[in-house]
Amino acid sequence: MELILTCNIQKHYGLQYLFIKKIKLILYLHHSPIWIQKILPSFIWKKRHAQKVVHLTFDDGPIPEVTPWVLNVLKTYNAKATFFCVGENIKKHPQIYTQIISESHIVGNHTYNHLKGIQTSDAIYLSNIQQCAETMARYAKVETPLLFRPPYGRLKFSQAKKIRELNYEIVLWDVLSGDFDKKLSKEKCLKASLKHTKSGSIVVFHDNIKSFETLQYVLPLYLKTLTEKGYKFESL
Ligand SMILES: [Zn+2]
Repeated sequence: MELILTCNIQKHYGLQYLFIKKIKLILYLHHSPIWIQKILPSFIWKKRHAQKVVHLTFDDGPIPEVTPWVLNVLKTYNAKATFFCVGENIKKHPQIYTQIISESHIVGNHTYNHLKGIQTSDAIYLSNIQQCAETMARYAKVETPLLFRPPYGRLKFSQAKKIRELNYEIVLWDVLSGDFDKKLSKEKCLKASLKHTKSGSIVVFHDNIKSFETLQYVLPLYLKTLTEKGYKFESL
């Protein structure tokens, strides 16, 4: 979970002005705090399962350098996952997109251009989601719930409301692997991902270039460890 705290401070000391325009603190946590999940109940953070089931998600593909590798690893462990795809990548690599579906994974919408909701007008954001949806439908008709994940895990409440009106479920996560973080060692990424995963967890990985080095180390070991503990991996 990424938290963004932004505040404006303007103070007046006699003739002196202290003006700090913005203090921005950005941090991400491997585990989305329960209180955030509780105050934002209309987002999907995790699922409830009586059995040991984990929901892996892969954001930002499909791309030839990473996605086929992910599909192969998933196949080894008989794992099904959910891929939040970027529309322009689907257009560039439709055969990988259809491979994801033919191997019984689920696909979701991650906007056409991987837009940051908070920096984008509602109209442009919604039309970008629609453009992604049209691209998805052009290459494969899938009978699944409409799933949307906002890039960077951030969007405006007004956008979330409009997306829900289009019958999308907005899927966030309770476990963020941190595979994209160049400052995090791959060993720590694996350890933190395993530590926070519980039955029903929705876990974020990325099938993008930036994360690939870490993902190649983490994903097989993550799947192996949890499989040995009796977990199954299902799509959303
Ligand atoms: Zn993304």
